[in-house]
Parts: sequence; structure tokens; C-alpha cells
Amino acid sequence: MAPLVRFAPSPTGYLHIGNARPALLNALFARARGGRFLLRLDDTDRERSTATFAAAIEEDLAWLGIVPDLFARQSERADRHDAAAERLKALGRLYPCYETPEELERRRKRQLGRGLPPIYDRAALALTPDQRAALEAEGRRPHWRFKLDHRTVAWHDLVRGEAHVDCASLSDPVLVRADGTYLYTLPSVVDDAELGITHVIRGEDHVTNTGVQVQIFEALGHAIPVFGHHNLLTTADGEGLSKRLGHLSLRGLREAGYEPAAVRALAVLTGSAEAVRPVAGLDELAALVDLAHISRAPAKFDPHELDGLNARLVHDLPPEAVRGRLAALGVPEAAADAFWLAVRANLVKVAEAAEWWRVVTGPVEPADADPAIVAAAAETLPPEPWGPETWKTWTAAVKDRTGARGKALFMPLRLALTGLDHGPDLSALLPLIGRERVAERLGQAR
Ligand code: GLU
Repeated sequence: MAPLVRFAPSPTGYLHIGNARPALLNALFARARGGRFLLRLDDTDRERSTATFAAAIEEDLAWLGIVPDLFARQSERADRHDAAAERLKALGRLYPCYETPEELERRRKRQLGRGLPPIYDRAALALTPDQRAALEAEGRRPHWRFKLDHRTVAWHDLVRGEAHVDCASLSDPVLVRADGTYLYTLPSVVDDAELGITHVIRGEDHVTNTGVQVQIFEALGHAIPVFGHHNLLTTADGEGLSKRLGHLSLRGLREAGYEPAAVRALAVLTGSAEAVRPVAGLDELAALVDLAHISRAPAKFDPHELDGLNARLVHDLPPEAVRGRLAALGVPEAAADAFWLAVRANLVKVAEAAEWWRVVTGPVEPADADPAIVAAAAETLPPEPWGPETWKTWTAAVKDRTGARGKALFMPLRLALTGLDHGPDLSALLPLIGRERVAERLGQAR
């Protein structure tokens, strides 16, 4: 059966490069197997979820090259979550608790003081109907805990191999808050089961949840999906990424001019068996990613690697891949392809081409260049049309006339023509600058 995977962010912030990792691992997993990708918005937190963040998630995924096949919103599935909660209550697996956070904290401290693990003692399970009624008469409203089976849950993890969670060492998790809203745990199981998710690929911060959630799948009589828990992307000092790290948000990276392929490569190949390197296409990347070879150690990355990756991708971008963007930078269509081939090797980001286009069209800074060379260059300036050979013929003539060669010949010309001491190969740039502007710049330099 073709897999159905999902990426399930909460629309409470912008996606960052750390979120791109599960998004891409899921999308690439499906892509390599003819499967489908569901975007599920975990928007049960009504206060913090916004339509703006929800729209931004779709936009940012599209930028990465991920177009979901299916959509779901948890907020639209509340009746399904309620039905599941009722079933668990009827089965005796979801029980009401009345402790306040302060009471729980006091008990926790007592347990720790006695050297006991600070897990919930299930005191509420022992309440009689009368005691419950008395608490409710006091105005207390229950929160609801899932009664775990005290056993070990084991599964074959796509990343970690044989994995297990000892549920006897866990507190019975709260699934429903006193105000009736759900924590993430139950709605996720209900939606994964009812929407037919076959593979749950997510960060290793969810391993313990998986132990609990497998028991919920079983209690509700659902088939259990395959799980894979990947290592998390962290910065070089081991710091995790949070949605607050604005500069590594996908939109921040996009606005900074990085190619989606550079971000994809960094997000996916870091901490995998493959070297982090530029990979232009999604299919190519999908073929490289093998969940079983993802490392167990944190996936440490250095955001500065993006510059190197981006530059290598940009140097290989064919003209047709950038025509629209060059037009937006003001490069006319007729010149765009030749201009791109002339400058791409000098760029880290595509947008920097604007600088070189300004050098082509001028005005350039009048340069302090060797007057003898500049004068000889003006006198030997070839007639148009100009082509790829013009630079060679022209500089040969200047060399004949002045005896200058190498840097002494080329640097004054570069300075006079561009106002800069570095830049793209002039044989490619020269025909774009054109005879009229070249003559004018030589005149200014003298
Ligand atoms: N909304 C959850 C999160 O962002 C989804 C986790 C999961 O993939 O199950 O952590």
C-alpha cells in the first residue's frame, strides 16, 4: 500500500529550519514511494493559533517544494476527538482527576523526598462516586487522565530500529484539560487513525509520546502506524531551535535570498549518512535520504554553511531557472541569459546579480587607472559588433601598443571599465557593457 504521511505543525509561529526537517523527511519518504503527504494543522490551541501562521506554513512549505496532497485541521475534527474520549471513558481508560497543580506539585516533592519516581499516584482512581460529587459541588472541574497499562511498548522504528518505552515509569497522561480542551496526545492519535496515516515520521522528542499513543491506538481498536523518530537539528553549540529563532525561520531565509534547495540540503542531510552538499532536485534528494541511516546523535549544523551551499547551487543554475528573477531585478530579457552566464560564478545569492547589472549599465565610480593603458585602450577600441572574442583581440592590441602584460595590463582596464578591482570575467561582461559605455568610462578614467 502506498504510504500516507503527515506533517503536523501547530500554526502558532513561523516554521524554521528545524521544522523543515520533519516536513521534508515526510515529503521525501512519500515521494520516493509514490505515497501522499497530508498537512495537518494542529490548531487545538485556539488562543495561539492564527490564520496568518496557517497561511504562512503553506506558503513556506510551497517554497521548499512541498505541495500537500491532503489537508486537515484538528479544530474541525473536535466531534471525532469527543467521540474517542467518550469511548475511552466507557472503557474505563479515561478517568477524572481533581487535583490542583499545587496539590500535584506537593505530592511530587514528597515522592522525590522519599526517593520515589515522581509519577502520578492514581489517587483519583480510588475516588468513590460520592467523593467525586462532593468535589464537583465545591466547584472543581475534572481533568482527564489516560490509564496506562504498566507494560513496555515496543516497536520497530524506521530510524532507531528496535525501540521501546516502559509505560510503568510514566504518569498517566492528561488527555483532556479541566476546561474541556484537549492536549495534543489524543487528537493526534484519532486523526492519524481516522485519516489513514500509515507512517508517522517525527522528531525524537516524541519517542515517549509514541509509547503512550500506541496504547491509545490499541485501546480505540485502531491499527498502529509505523513510526520513525529522527534526531533534531541543533545549532553547533547544541542549542535546540525554537520558533522564536527568527533568523532561521523559513521566511527569514527566503527573504535573505537563500535558494530553497540549499535550505533543503542543510535541513535533511545534516546528521544523515550523506555529506551535506548541494542537491538541486527533490527526486535526487529523496533518493539520498534513508531514514535507517539517520544518526542517533543530534544533527548539529552551522547556519553559515548555507552560504557555501547556496553559492554552489547558484553557480550551476541555468539561465532559464533565473529569468523571472533577473527580470525582477531589472535585467532586460534580451541580455538576461548572457548576463547570467557572465556573473553567476561570482555570486553567493541570485539577488547579488543586481550589483553586477549596475556595473554593466553604470554609472561606475571613475577609477584611478594607469593613464598610459587607458589611453592605448581608448585608441584601439574595436568597432562593434562585439562578441566573446572582442576582449581578447582588444587587450592584445593594448599589449602591443604599451608592452604591458598580465596584471599590469588587465587591472587598469578592469578598474576603468567597472570601477572595481574584482569581478566577473571581462570577456563575457564586455559585450554587455557595449562600446558606447566603454568609451565613456575610458574617457572618465583619464
Ligand atoms: N503538533 C505536534 C508538534 O508539532 C505534532 C507532533 C507529531 O508529529 O505527532 O509537535
